[in-house]
Amino acid sequence: MIVEVINTGTELLLGEILNTNFQYLSQELNRRGYDVLFQTTVGDNEKRLQDVLQIAWQRADIVITTGGLGPTRGDITKEVVASCLGLPLEMDDESLQRIQGFFANRGAVMPKNNLKQALKPLGAVILKNDTGTAPGLAVEHGKNLTVLLPGPPNEMKHVFKNAVLPFLEHKFLQQGIIQSRVLKLRGIGESTVAEKLDDIILAQSNPTIAIYARSGEIVIRITAKGSNESEAEVLINGMAERVERRLEGKIYGSDGESLPQKLGNELLKRKCSIAFAESCTGGLASSMLTDIPGSSEYLLGSVVSYSNMAKEKVLNVSSASLHKYGAVSEQVAIEMAEGVRLLLGTSLGVSITGIAGPGGGTSDKPVGLVYIAVSSPYGTVWKKLNFSGTRTDNKLRSALNAFSLALDKLTEEF
Ligand code: ATP
Ligand code: MG
Repeated sequence: MIVEVINTGTELLLGEILNTNFQYLSQELNRRGYDVLFQTTVGDNEKRLQDVLQIAWQRADIVITTGGLGPTRGDITKEVVASCLGLPLEMDDESLQRIQGFFANRGAVMPKNNLKQALKPLGAVILKNDTGTAPGLAVEHGKNLTVLLPGPPNEMKHVFKNAVLPFLEHKFLQQGIIQSRVLKLRGIGESTVAEKLDDIILAQSNPTIAIYARSGEIVIRITAKGSNESEAEVLINGMAERVERRLEGKIYGSDGESLPQKLGNELLKRKCSIAFAESCTGGLASSMLTDIPGSSEYLLGSVVSYSNMAKEKVLNVSSASLHKYGAVSEQVAIEMAEGVRLLLGTSLGVSITGIAGPGGGTSDKPVGLVYIAVSSPYGTVWKKLNFSGTRTDNKLRSALNAFSLALDKLTEEF
């Protein structure tokens, strides 16, 4: 069942308000298996609204409008829909009584303007609105169903939940349901993921899969449509297994799980501890880890060693290395990681040193160059990274990569 949502309101077009009505409707409808394939925003203008409706009726089965059901002259949605369909407007007595009651409850007399809110196109079904004066309306014509909803978000949601959904379910039965799962990846780039899954992506139908870069991480969203939840779940499980086989070891979790959370859990399981020596991230990695309740079990402490002096004095980095290789170098990263591990007596010491930008880069050490290292009693590993994002992005990615390298070392050695 193809749906088009038409949101009316000049304020929307001017960017003065955000179209949260569409976000709500789209999420609610997609979840229930309706295919929301089009969305149009149009100002409060008769001719343009007519055009938009005509297009929508051609390409969608269900057209849902929001806004323009108010009492003023500028509120024209119902009038335009009725005139396009050649339907006269008739007074709906029940709505009239309800609107009069709405004002009476507030000790007021209904203004004349509000009379028009009790009009409905001939044959339309009233979708009751207990939160405001304008009821929603459902008009069936030819192969189309057109649903008119009020603009204020609380009224729109109320009418949708209490009147539109039951109406749709009754008319179309259940459209099935749509479920998604997000797989979270580490230590692999977006294009490599795309390459490895190329044939699966090409052949996808149900479930569908999509790759996104989100908050410094790569995620894969698997979406399945089934007649019920467990059917969709089975489809998702099958696809998730295929994807996991292709990306062995790169998926660390799903949905709400985060990389610091995963690292924290693995540290806990092994009764291991960790400390960070952070330069360009300024404490971000430690902060992300302390966002997890119970992290005091494994994070013993960290050093924000921003200057060379701090690196030398607190972490015991040699001044020779700093002079010879510079603060952003594998040698210094290694010494920082070892230094903080020995200083705090942890299982792992993790260091991050780099050039977050936008300034401070040179031709051999460009902005976005970051070294991370992880030290344990069994040795130290390091990694060179090159980022091209903003300062904030570069810091976040540095922290995430440090978690990932720490996780590798932890699971290999402990
Ligand atoms: P009213 O009786 O208030 O005039 P209406 O049904 O005519 O209701 P509109 O006039 O189009 O609706 O919108 C009323 C208010 O609802 C807008 O000023 C805006 O604050 C909010 N609104 C309208 N459309 C949207 C939308 N798509 N997303 C978020 N808010 C919206
Ligand atoms: Mg209005």
